[in-house]
Amino acid sequence: MNYTDFFTGELDRLRDDGNYRVFADLQRKRGSFPQALNRDGDQKRDVTIWCSNDYLGMGQHENVLGAMHEAIDTVGAGAGGTRNISGTTHQHVVLEQELADLHGKEAALLFTSGYVSNWAALGTLAARIPDCLVLSDALNHASMIEGIRHSRAECQRFRHNDVEHLEELLKAQPLDRPKLIAFESVYSMDGDIGPIEEICDLADKYNAMTYLDEVHAVGLYGPRGGGIAEERGLMDRLTVIEGTLGKAFGVMGGYIAASTALCDFIRSFASGFIFTTALPPAVAAGAAASVRHLKDSSFERAQHKQRVAQVRARLDAVGIPHTDNDSHIIPVMVGDPVKCKYLSDILLKDHGIYIQPINYPTVPKGTERLRITPSPVHSQADIDNLVGALELLWSQCELARIPMAAQ
Ligand code: PMP
Repeated sequence: MNYTDFFTGELDRLRDDGNYRVFADLQRKRGSFPQALNRDGDQKRDVTIWCSNDYLGMGQHENVLGAMHEAIDTVGAGAGGTRNISGTTHQHVVLEQELADLHGKEAALLFTSGYVSNWAALGTLAARIPDCLVLSDALNHASMIEGIRHSRAECQRFRHNDVEHLEELLKAQPLDRPKLIAFESVYSMDGDIGPIEEICDLADKYNAMTYLDEVHAVGLYGPRGGGIAEERGLMDRLTVIEGTLGKAFGVMGGYIAASTALCDFIRSFASGFIFTTALPPAVAAGAAASVRHLKDSSFERAQHKQRVAQVRARLDAVGIPHTDNDSHIIPVMVGDPVKCKYLSDILLKDHGIYIQPINYPTVPKGTERLRITPSPVHSQADIDNLVGALELLWSQCELARIPMAAQ
């Protein structure tokens, strides 16, 4: 085989399908989010980011930056080892305590990312609990799917958010067979929210554990930013709550919060926890500052909610179709990979607006979209520019609009 021909052939196929990923070369600027410098090509220009998962702008928050600077100045750069071999620093210990407290759990365990936390924690539970059956929502994130796959445990998928289907699957199993239900609160691409309480009821009835990915909800929902489970008073009913420090908390890292015994079990058996260098202490310190700030302050959450509602209302007013949901994610549906990429390119080139196109395989074919994520720091002028540009492009591309009366 000619390996290079193989690689370029596969990439050409992606390009032909409109699914080849191109990344913008962005230079973020301290204190100026959502503005950043796009360094692609010869013409560097300022752009407004409308697709960031730094949902609250905490990646630029003074408390977070201050904590990171202080940690670097006092303890240096890297952790110096895996958690097991000299890499557990005081900053890691403090952050795990903050996270356990955030979710009302006995303990928490840090990983280098949300992806790794799902892969390692779910994979270890499914692999190590004898005869464990995993019941996985059909739209679960790739990190959960890969973890379950890696475990080689039996996995049955239930239709997305379909508690009746989940019950059918649970009912067919012996009550004493170990079972683990894996699902999300806010689903990242549609922004819809899982039926957490109903799933907890089923878990109680059929003797199952629950594993909830709150990656797109922590920091954003609940009086202290504990996620949808906190908002709905359900944290104590979940076996494992998993989250990220890289989205609303604005830094990096992933975690689970659960009982002391479960966290100790994962700490002791998960290769994705054991055999990798710990996060830099400054990252842990920045994340802890962010978690602490958002426990005490609802200002960012309230402001965020308001901006999301404004963007939705403005899109409705000009008939730009977007999926309705109860979260902060606004999926503007295009339904064609080539048009989706084109819209994204023109928004960036002609309007200084950066929204990465979301194409297959991230979303099913035919549901290609621009996933818009407003933040509390987008201004009225930013919203005007966004809606004006979309309105113009919708006409130019002859994309369907939704008349006001039908909304
Ligand atoms: N779970 C979900 C639902 C996600 O969308 C993502 C990332 N987009 C992750 C986990 C992984 O989190 P991280 O980016 O911290 O690796």
